[in-house]
Amino acid sequence: GFLARIESVDPEIKAFITVTKKTALEQAKAVDEKLARGEKLGALEGIPMALKDNLCTEGIRTTCSSKILDNFIPPYNATVTDKLKDAGAVLLGKLNMDEFAMGSSTENSGFFATRNPWDLERVPGGSSGGSVAAVAADQAVFTLGSDTGGSIRQPAAFCGVVGLKPTYGLVSRYGLIAYASSLDQIGPVTKTVADNAWVLNAIAGHDAKDSTSVSLAKPDYTRSLTEDIRGLRIGVPQEYFGQGMDPQVETVLREAIRTYESLGAIVEECSLPHTEYAMPAYYLIATAEASSNLARYDGVRYGHRTESPEDILSMFCKTRAEGFGSEVKRRIMLGTYALSAGYYDAYYLKAQKARTLIVRDFDQAFEKYDVLLSPTTPTTAFRIGEKSSDPLTMYLSDVCTVPINLAGIPALSMPAGFVDGLPVGMQLMGKHFAEGTLYKAGYAFE
Ligand code: GLN
Repeated sequence: GFLARIESVDPEIKAFITVTKKTALEQAKAVDEKLARGEKLGALEGIPMALKDNLCTEGIRTTCSSKILDNFIPPYNATVTDKLKDAGAVLLGKLNMDEFAMGSSTENSGFFATRNPWDLERVPGGSSGGSVAAVAADQAVFTLGSDTGGSIRQPAAFCGVVGLKPTYGLVSRYGLIAYASSLDQIGPVTKTVADNAWVLNAIAGHDAKDSTSVSLAKPDYTRSLTEDIRGLRIGVPQEYFGQGMDPQVETVLREAIRTYESLGAIVEECSLPHTEYAMPAYYLIATAEASSNLARYDGVRYGHRTESPEDILSMFCKTRAEGFGSEVKRRIMLGTYALSAGYYDAYYLKAQKARTLIVRDFDQAFEKYDVLLSPTTPTTAFRIGEKSSDPLTMYLSDVCTVPINLAGIPALSMPAGFVDGLPVGMQLMGKHFAEGTLYKAGYAFE
């Protein structure tokens, strides 16, 4: 079934870096045997899935789409990998991404670009481009991605699938190769809202191995799906319909708002006044954290090491020069600069202050509203190569998604309609740990 599908379509889509055919067949056989014996099955027993290649899988190559980790085979599983295994899901392979999750198009992969299944000339979005393309092209029932500033939601919007960025701390980050630790979250990519709730059930929960994971009673997210949305208070932040927004995308979103009104929700315009500071604050905080997280790739402990260094310092320098791609290098330099003595107060500290203002904007909005609604992206999927030479316009495809990571709140992206045959994504944002509310709002719309 799915392995054959991967063989037939992946030469064009290029979502997979590694296909784990042998272990997938073994796992599937074990499920058959369990069934034959009449044993109790896990919640995701036998469901074929795949993982973004920044999630560690024991004994299976995990590259982060970087040459520096080309030969890295982790000796352990990420917590989410273990949890999915326990639930019975079958791993089909590892998925392409922007190198170290830095990008919005998957063109920054150190290996190859992934294509958008709706139009092979277009990008699938990024950085979890492989994760969304695989679901959109029916190469897996679900996948996991990671989202630091939009990397699950923006590609989900571009490829017409459902993607959730959970509340910071809901899903353990243990075994997720870090980009920006205060922003990163792992989340599910699925075809439907209901499937998304099933997968979140399996991966959420406290983990002693991640000190930022929160211990809370874990709800059953599938129970929220069918709850009534009459009287649900939805705010529409006007700042998210601003500059750079394609008017046809706006039309689709205005139509979605009318649908919610007809379902009995109360919809009002609202304001998140500090939104304009989110993008600059994000690119200072994310790069600062990345410059620190990526210091460990020095050729000593794992990954690529240069062939013939003159001395130890040149070993570090040459290894990093050869192993990292240009976007990763750009960000390490930006982050190192922002953290350096004399610039710290002007850049990093300022960005942290802006982050606090953004958190407050959301707190105030959620005093009045249960859910906030916006487009996920200002435009539909762009063409391969269209933005790759200009990092600033590339960064702008995340204007609607980065504030959510700064605030640590959950947000769901789901298909809202089409413009010229390309999917348009709607973003639903909620209070901390209100994933259930997002699922109920999403399910009612679907
Ligand atoms: N596109 C954003 C960036 O490059 C977000 C990436 C992400 O969420 N991992 O930083």
